[in-house]
Amino acid sequence: MTSNSLVSLLAVSAVAGSACASPPAPPVESPDPAVAALEAMVGRFAPVEVRADLSPLADSERQALAKIVEAARVMDGLFLRQVWAGNPALLVDLARDETPLGRARLRYFLINKGPWSRLDRNEPFVPGAPAKPDGANYYPAGATKAALETWLNGLSEAERRRATGFFTTIRRAPGGRDPFVAVPYSVEYEGELALAAELLRQAAALTTQPSLARYLTTRADAFLTDDYYESDVAWMELDASIEPTIGPYEVYEDEFFNYKAGFEAFIAMRDDEETAKVARFGADLQDIEDHLPIDARHRNPKLGALAPIRVVNEVFASGDANRGVQTAAFNLPNDERVIREKGSKRVMLKNVQEAKFDLVLTPISRIALPAAAQTDVAFEAFFTHILMHELMHGLGPHDIAVGGRATTVRQELREVSSAIEEAKADVSGLFALQYLVDKGVLSKDFERTMYTTFLASAFRSLRFGTTEAHAKGIAVQLNYLMDAGAVSVGADGTFSVVPDRVKDAVAGLTRDIMTLQAEGSYAKATDLLARLGGVRPAVQAVLDRLQPVPVDIAPRFVTAEQLRATGGLR
Ligand code: ZN
Repeated sequence: MTSNSLVSLLAVSAVAGSACASPPAPPVESPDPAVAALEAMVGRFAPVEVRADLSPLADSERQALAKIVEAARVMDGLFLRQVWAGNPALLVDLARDETPLGRARLRYFLINKGPWSRLDRNEPFVPGAPAKPDGANYYPAGATKAALETWLNGLSEAERRRATGFFTTIRRAPGGRDPFVAVPYSVEYEGELALAAELLRQAAALTTQPSLARYLTTRADAFLTDDYYESDVAWMELDASIEPTIGPYEVYEDEFFNYKAGFEAFIAMRDDEETAKVARFGADLQDIEDHLPIDARHRNPKLGALAPIRVVNEVFASGDANRGVQTAAFNLPNDERVIREKGSKRVMLKNVQEAKFDLVLTPISRIALPAAAQTDVAFEAFFTHILMHELMHGLGPHDIAVGGRATTVRQELREVSSAIEEAKADVSGLFALQYLVDKGVLSKDFERTMYTTFLASAFRSLRFGTTEAHAKGIAVQLNYLMDAGAVSVGADGTFSVVPDRVKDAVAGLTRDIMTLQAEGSYAKATDLLARLGGVRPAVQAVLDRLQPVPVDIAPRFVTAEQLRATGGLR
């Protein structure tokens, strides 16, 4: 199959797939248990139409955006191939099958980018599909991790760097002494990348925004040369109304070594209002640091430069960026050389967060909180707390001294450092927002909603257990607030914030966590997690009732569809 036909097949299938679920029909008992089981799996992803406001764009920019979205569609086909060599042929089979079972399989295949259910430990849901290969299609089918390691260990330094790099696949060597050979992405994916590069160049010719044109042309070059450095730098320096991220980035799909980058795209519009809010908070950060509820000697008298944060609204996502649970924020690039020289950038997808808030968090709050608290669950509070969480990672103790020895919190707290740091960013984020309310920067109305919204979102994070660092950090906070009388449990099992108690409790936990970080105390950190890092029965009782609430969203990119239909013309 040519790359072009795979791209159009995916586009057609995606529309057909979402049409099945839209408008959302009431769950009908399907006569075929196989169809019903698949529909239940699909139903965990609530269908949603994702839109972005293009009205600020001049005609030239709309047409450029249409080209960029077309280039992004190419990433879908590329990523499918990267996940499993059998994916393109299976997609053709599923697209041909017009039975209800075939339709349900196609829909779930498109959500998962393959025949394995990512929410269910990669259980296959299409008969005959093999177990999901750990090395994906980055390594030869059947090659074991041990065989690859033996080969890698025998390579020269330069060969090894190539073979373990982001942008090569490993294939069986034809004849010769070596069992394997590294193939550059520009060769392995030549046809698709040539097409994507051409579309990016056309977009670059259309836009009048120089930093955007520079990213698009350097990224097009990178597709053909495998040298992504210049385009990563151009991405860091992007200052445009359109914020595209397209190329091979994340390494999660390579479960052998996390070496190989999966193709993906996030095509978005910059949200100027929210981006300005980040800048406004940025101006208050030193003041917040100076008033942290910790011993004055643990405060940082001069905070370093802020890592840039961009708030955007997603127009289109594809490939690795549109599989299973949707990404709501990301940090790139991953190339350590660029990070050393230019730092990294955090991009927050506001309309994706909003869809998750509406379709997942709000239904959770209806179960976890009393009816009277519903009016205090607000997207503004939810999103602003996430922004503050990101900023607070930069505050508090990082470089510390233990017994006169210079070290870092991360080194001293070892495997528990992430859970502690996530809890710190959350709870000190609440502390910081309260500080800004008291200072008059944020409204009293905001104060009312921020704690209750945080409480509802705690249940969202705890749904999948406490193995992951962020969820463990949430458990610590919820249990601490309960013990401090700042969160109460009603006779009906719902949870409420106790307004008179919550402010002091938040300051107290911020102090406890930041102090143990400043001391580099592994013992205090592990003790805190052991005491408070679990799910208590009252919390579990709520989690058990959340079963029918969707786990995540399944987006349909309406703005991108309109761009495709019009080519960006008004
Ligand atoms: Zn964080």
